[in-house]
Amino acid sequence: MQSEHSYTQLDPRLSASCEPTPVMQPQWLAVNTELAEYLGIPEDLFGNEHGLRIFAGNEVPDWAQPAALGYAGHQFANYVPQLGDGRAVLLAEVTAADGKRFDLQLKGSGRTPFSRGGDGRSPIGPVLREYVVSEAMYRLGVPTTRALAAVATGELVQREQAEPGAILTRVASSHLRVGTAQYVLAFKDRELLHSFADYVIQRHYPACATADQPYLSLLQAVIDRQAQLIAKWMSLGFIHGVMNTDNMTLSGETIDYGPCAFMEAYDPATVFSSIDRRGRYMYQNQPPIAMWNLARFAETLLPLLHAEGEASEPAIKAATEAVEGFEARYLHYYWQEMTRKLGLTPESPGAQLLVQDFLDLLAQYKIDFTLAFRYLSDEEPTRLAQLFTNEHHWRPWYDRWQAAWPKGFSPEQLQQVNPAYIPRNHRIQELIDEAIKEGSLAKFNRLNKVLREPFVERDENQDLMAPAAAGEQVTRTFC
Ligand code: AMP
Ligand code: MG
Ligand code: MG
Repeated sequence: MQSEHSYTQLDPRLSASCEPTPVMQPQWLAVNTELAEYLGIPEDLFGNEHGLRIFAGNEVPDWAQPAALGYAGHQFANYVPQLGDGRAVLLAEVTAADGKRFDLQLKGSGRTPFSRGGDGRSPIGPVLREYVVSEAMYRLGVPTTRALAAVATGELVQREQAEPGAILTRVASSHLRVGTAQYVLAFKDRELLHSFADYVIQRHYPACATADQPYLSLLQAVIDRQAQLIAKWMSLGFIHGVMNTDNMTLSGETIDYGPCAFMEAYDPATVFSSIDRRGRYMYQNQPPIAMWNLARFAETLLPLLHAEGEASEPAIKAATEAVEGFEARYLHYYWQEMTRKLGLTPESPGAQLLVQDFLDLLAQYKIDFTLAFRYLSDEEPTRLAQLFTNEHHWRPWYDRWQAAWPKGFSPEQLQQVNPAYIPRNHRIQELIDEAIKEGSLAKFNRLNKVLREPFVERDENQDLMAPAAAGEQVTRTFC
């Protein structure tokens, strides 16, 4: 298998070579054969003992040079100079048939030089969650890291209680984060910073290389990708839950599915993460938090924005303008996404007000965000009526919307836009419980399968569309 190790070869200070720690009794949990095929990973690695050893970390194949990457990060606004891959190793970079390069990483593969007090392991719950949600995000059209494989380790991991351990093989267009840039900056070595920024440009934003000011252009490009990403999240009711700067990629892919969850009843102040006590990362804070994180990224590039190396007034001004430009970019994408959910464009007369008024109704009557938009794609608004129960709550809005329909519009078109299925939190909890208590992956496999086509409704999967009933609600998530 062809592989590269361009990032670990960039500078020895940025990573630590580190072998995964073998596990007792590995067992396959899941294999993403379609992704494997796309990446050109030999078919014979999957389903058999050899592949299992590799994806459990029990064997390092000749194409891998495992390493833990260094990064820093602001966690809940507090700067931590050394985080890094504490329970993950990068195996290799592989190039897919279409020329795109991807990192292959084992997550949960044992201690590394960055583990601090941690055990380097992951319980099966978070592995299954990341597998399901990251793949669902991909199918929903959101830039994201992906899941190639999951294996059980046959060992227990001590958390609140002992839980079975597992390892996820994560695929990302890279694992470089805002926190990686912060880590690089801390070496106070201009050459290193230069080569890092050039690397990011070459790998993710090649067009910036020929711009007048490549590093300003890089900053703007990252800001633009993040603006697009956050707009996608918002349009799906996705709450990341832990938007620390080490969990924000430079590629613009969603990363780190720890305490994430999809909102059910629409409420902009929704928080799920048990560690987010003040609601820093609540749904409606995601855009301003992204901008805050991007300001931290801008700071890392400042030394490169001025020829003399020291941050100067014009450089600071340009960086500040770029960061402040996030808001307009974000709003541009947000209105694009949200008006599209109504079959309109931001330019359609009254479109933004229609979106806002609909959201206000959802908030006022505590209506499920996903279903409300989905039911707009019905030819007759029967299900929408059931959702709101009271005709007066939705009908005046619906009539206004209908009057705004473009020529030739039919609601069914929205079936391609507004998903029927999202990975609902109680369903994820249920499949994790089943895996742990009954050793069965039936629910996991079923949900994965349904979420491969989140826009295609099937009668037999009605139950997976429904929000949590009163007794099923999962209001807190854990990393
Ligand atoms: P996260 O909350 O997943 O973004 O992780 C924050 C930091 O904690 C990263 O540096 C992780 O590698 C590290 N970390 C999380 N869990 C563990 C663990 N079980 N063992 C070692 N390091 C960990
Ligand atoms: Mg993380
Ligand atoms: Mg995490």
